[in-house]
Amino acid sequence: MKNPPVSFEFFPPKTADGMSKLHDARTQLAQFSPEFFSVTFGAGGSTRDRTMDTVLEIQNEGHQAAPHISCISSSKEEILELLYAYKAQGIKRLVTLRGDIPSGEVSAGDFRYASELVEFIRANTGDHFHIEVAAYPEFHPEARTPSADLQNLKRKMDAGANSAITQYFYNADAYFQFVMQCEYLGITMPIVPGIMPIYNITQLARFSSVCGAEIPRWLKLRLEEYGDDMVSLRAFGIDVVSELCETLIAWGAPSLHFYTLNQAGTISQIIQNISQE
Ligand code: FAD
Repeated sequence: MKNPPVSFEFFPPKTADGMSKLHDARTQLAQFSPEFFSVTFGAGGSTRDRTMDTVLEIQNEGHQAAPHISCISSSKEEILELLYAYKAQGIKRLVTLRGDIPSGEVSAGDFRYASELVEFIRANTGDHFHIEVAAYPEFHPEARTPSADLQNLKRKMDAGANSAITQYFYNADAYFQFVMQCEYLGITMPIVPGIMPIYNITQLARFSSVCGAEIPRWLKLRLEEYGDDMVSLRAFGIDVVSELCETLIAWGAPSLHFYTLNQAGTISQIIQNISQE
């Protein structure tokens, strides 16, 4: 069976060695014909140049590259400069975010929410960009209520977003429930599940506590049982995530967006598993 539609997310490396390793990972992942490779953007523009460099390198290799762009702590002038630079380079897709509020931040620049950034991009660049936004099947940790968070996604679509990528999750039910709620609200854009492979329980627990993604009890206990046996933990993680991906695709997810952490091996194995079904 052909592999499902996929996209891959990277972070911009800090060193030449990191760039070279990312190039190798990208070459390996390119075999799955991704719709695009995206590159994250540090809060407050901290990776601005590295994100741009990585995106242009990807594009020069003939792939579609999508920079993430976040607005927290940024002025309208800074965002406009970045948008025009991407437009001039022929970039056609953006992953558009608010960004995490840096600790101790009081004044957050010219934008408060991602919906305002989406609106600003449409007002200044028309339909040039395909705009992706973030969605949260287990809800964003700062959301007042689940309904308010769903309304926020609707606001982002109404402001001009074309599609959404979700925070990662390990409960397929959370995604399907969320998509159903979105349909009730008239959110018609595709909602693509974000997939986080399991590399390491300590790292995963840290990420999850920050972003509000639940590690189900059964999964946490099974992973902890492997202790330092990383080989077995990863093999188990590949089985769990492959099964999650199969369920998502079988029940109608439009495609899969992988958080790669700049690594290709585990994800390649997962996609090969799904493709063999
Ligand atoms: P928003 O959509 O603005 O929502 C933020 C919070 O505000 C939510 O709780 C929402 O319910 C609430 N809210 C929105 N509008 C209103 C309103 N009018 N009134 C009251 N409450 C409101 N972070 C980075 O820094 N760089 C990245 O590259 C990056 N990439 C990501 C990629 C994906 C696919 C995802 C899912 C997340 C990514 N993040 C990234 C993390 C993201 O920036 C954080 O989750 C951030 O805290 C929220 O961003 P957002 O765009 O979802 O914000």
